[in-house]
Amino acid sequence: MNVLSSWWPQWFPPDLRLPLREQLAVHWRANVLMLRSPAAILGFCGWSLLPLVPLLGAAWAAGWIGGEPRGLGSPWGLATYGAAIVAYLLLQHLAFVKAIDRTYLPHVRRALCDRGLRVCLRCGHRLGPAAVRCPECGAAEPGEP
Ligand SMILES: [Zn+2]
Repeated sequence: MNVLSSWWPQWFPPDLRLPLREQLAVHWRANVLMLRSPAAILGFCGWSLLPLVPLLGAAWAAGWIGGEPRGLGSPWGLATYGAAIVAYLLLQHLAFVKAIDRTYLPHVRRALCDRGLRVCLRCGHRLGPAAVRCPECGAAEPGEP
């Protein structure tokens, strides 16, 4: 795992070069698979909505919810609100990446396996034809073609 994988999902194994048309077909299949999984949908929504908790808390503390907004009359107050919004957007993006990682990428890996490519369903590592255990994460049941 590199630093970039925390900021953007790694859809496919790094050594796998699929044409755009193939990538889109895999994503289409992964979306269909995910939509058949209520647990994945709920998990995705839960992770994605998590940053709303600190946002709503900050909005309540600032008086935006159920009170008189404070601090909007000064440049310092506006900068504070701007920083809070930027922090929220950053948290929202990280939560989105985590939601994708936890709930969507397993379906992408399953879709790759459905197309005959052997990848580990847990970590996405590309597997050789005879692998019975993932050499990257040790999963016992890597993807079946
Ligand atoms: Zn693995």
